[in-house]
Amino acid sequence: MDRFDLVRESFEKKAVPAEVPAGKTSDYFGELVFDHKKMSKYLDAATLKALLDCIDGGKPLDRKAADGVARGMKEWAMEHGVTHVTHWFQPLTEGTAEKHDSLIDYDGKGGVIETFDGKALVQQEPDASSFPSGGIRATFEARGYTAWDPTSPVFILDDTLCIPTVFISYTGEALDYKTPLKRALKAVSDAAVPICRLFDPGVKKVYSYLGWEQEYFLVDEALYAARTDLMITGRTLFGHNSSKNQQLDDHYFAAIPPRVAAFMRDLEVAGHRLGIPLKTRHNEVAPNQFELAPIYGETNLANDQNQIVMNLMNSIARKHGFVVLLHEKPFDGVNGSGKHNNWSLGTDKGTQLLAPGKDAKGNLQFVTFFVNVLAAVQKHNALLKASIATATNAYRLGANEAPPAIVSAFLGRTMTDVLRKLLTVPSDTPIEIAGKKGKSLGLVEIPEIFVDNTDRNRTSPFAFTGNRFEFRAVGSCANCASAMTTLNAAVAEQLTDFKAAVEKELSAGKKTNVAIMDALKPIIKSVIDVVCFDGNGYSEEWKEEAIKRGLDVETSVPKMFCEFTKPSSVEMFTKTGVYTEKDLIARNEVKWDTYVKKVQIESRVMVRMALNHIIPAALEYKAKILKEVSLTKEIYGGLDTCATELRLLEKISALITDVTTKATEMKEARKAANKIEDGYEKALAYHEIAESFPALRRPIDKLEELVDNKMWPLPKYREMLFIS
Ligand code: ADP
Ligand code: MG
Repeated sequence: MDRFDLVRESFEKKAVPAEVPAGKTSDYFGELVFDHKKMSKYLDAATLKALLDCIDGGKPLDRKAADGVARGMKEWAMEHGVTHVTHWFQPLTEGTAEKHDSLIDYDGKGGVIETFDGKALVQQEPDASSFPSGGIRATFEARGYTAWDPTSPVFILDDTLCIPTVFISYTGEALDYKTPLKRALKAVSDAAVPICRLFDPGVKKVYSYLGWEQEYFLVDEALYAARTDLMITGRTLFGHNSSKNQQLDDHYFAAIPPRVAAFMRDLEVAGHRLGIPLKTRHNEVAPNQFELAPIYGETNLANDQNQIVMNLMNSIARKHGFVVLLHEKPFDGVNGSGKHNNWSLGTDKGTQLLAPGKDAKGNLQFVTFFVNVLAAVQKHNALLKASIATATNAYRLGANEAPPAIVSAFLGRTMTDVLRKLLTVPSDTPIEIAGKKGKSLGLVEIPEIFVDNTDRNRTSPFAFTGNRFEFRAVGSCANCASAMTTLNAAVAEQLTDFKAAVEKELSAGKKTNVAIMDALKPIIKSVIDVVCFDGNGYSEEWKEEAIKRGLDVETSVPKMFCEFTKPSSVEMFTKTGVYTEKDLIARNEVKWDTYVKKVQIESRVMVRMALNHIIPAALEYKAKILKEVSLTKEIYGGLDTCATELRLLEKISALITDVTTKATEMKEARKAANKIEDGYEKALAYHEIAESFPALRRPIDKLEELVDNKMWPLPKYREMLFIS
């Protein structure tokens, strides 16, 4: 089969109908999760109470109760045909890990029975020496354990009962994404509650919420398989732009192609059965790019659900003859993919802390949290950028189509005006919600219309959108936990500092609202001057301005990671109990190592493809032209009529030489980099190699334009990017 057969085959593929269960979505929503409804059905009263105390109150679950829970889970799971169980965790790789054990055990009579007890539910010891740990665990002491996270419900995938777990070393260091996230969520609640109590003494807990928007590309699986680069690295390392890509803006929100719609439907059904509230689906900006988003939920659970969805996407896509690309930049010249993290805080009494309140008191509470979030983002802007930095997200950041490599916050006109106004009025001035028509009520007011109608600025990496902040710099294949841990921890630190500032004002005998406002004013002044920016985040002027404001403009990913071990970060993470300094150092080792390996793999694939695929095709074409020229000379006795061919030959020869030189240089650079022992220095060397990719890519993309279309070995952008 040649390339044309593959393209034709992909074009002719018809949609495979989605399998939608009978009845309404609400009939099968959550049927594969062990939620409250199933708990009540399958657990006895005492066990149920013990479990709920554990989930809601953080009380430990004793062995007897754990046995009871396991028994109930087993009964429920076996009714769904489950034969295996796994502790499901999120190591420091991309994606999740699972090691399945069947439920069987000897029954003592020569046969087997299905067993699952509290011990197997609560804790396991996978021999996990091959997971990245940054030197925390040497291979000879491969001990680490997974421990059940009862706050995220157990679920069924195919024949397996999956138990969400944290993954920790025996000495207590986190070896995964979930552990620090849970610590950060506790920290932010512990820090936010005392502030909420200034407004409502009844508040006991504050929740962090996450609504992720997952962008992705779909490509036909046959075309995918014909591209070594896509198969191995998840992105195309070469490829000339298609004449038409996204310039007509005709893909965004356009009608969803039937094959894609069927895939989306199957994905939604699978998600809904797992209790994942998938809500929105649409075409994105780039051709073949799509998005899906659930209704937001508690951050730990929402993040688990995102991990599950990413896994589901991969398997369900194959049924429809697609491969999902979760890479941040699969195609050059068109938009890359991100994963907007919509984030907010709310109390156990249902108050949204980042949305305007019902009255002046509620509004002051809102402004308090709003301003403190901005202060945290300002203080840790470089760290927040580091929290989303990866080898793959680097191709998207600062590339004029995604968040810039500078973390600033967008407030919009209304909130900017509110903050400015607050600086000019007495501290006891009430913040009112003004009527829709904007009739002036008080001195500081939020127009009613704003509440569900905020303005947008797509170029901002951290934008306020009416009742939440949208952290837009997160990469599409990332685990949201990295960004969410850092953000929640930074906010926790800030809220604690702020509470201390308020206490100081209160001890001067001020009324609570005045004390709060007096503590807020210097922060407001500072954030307006530094982190708040509503202009074009892609412009060169902004970069200059950001440097003046002291914001971080670093673009080298390995250097960004250094932020994690800076004194201010270590202090923040240790104070909030999220990471120890040892954790941070170890994690940076993992990050640099992962960075090196990613770039190394890409570079190897690039050089091999250049030498094995591209140059042979170019030489074949060159030989063809040479033959023609030689024939012409033979027949006509001169080369006068071959001017065009000769010029083409010259161009092709020059490009072949260029490709060979660049490929050799890259190989040599790799050899030199591989000799470096130090993880950070090695990552810096590999960063240089990554920076040299375009130099090798350029002559190859030019060759694609010149070489006979029939001889080109790889599916082209124009063939891969348009699903019929
Ligand atoms: P848009 O693309 O316009 O930004 P979407 O509808 O695609 O919006 O996604 C917005 C996401 O934000 C959804 O997941 C939504 O549930 C979530 N969201 C809405 N309100 C909040 C909130 N208060 N906290 C966190 N996430 C929220
Ligand atoms: Mg969206």
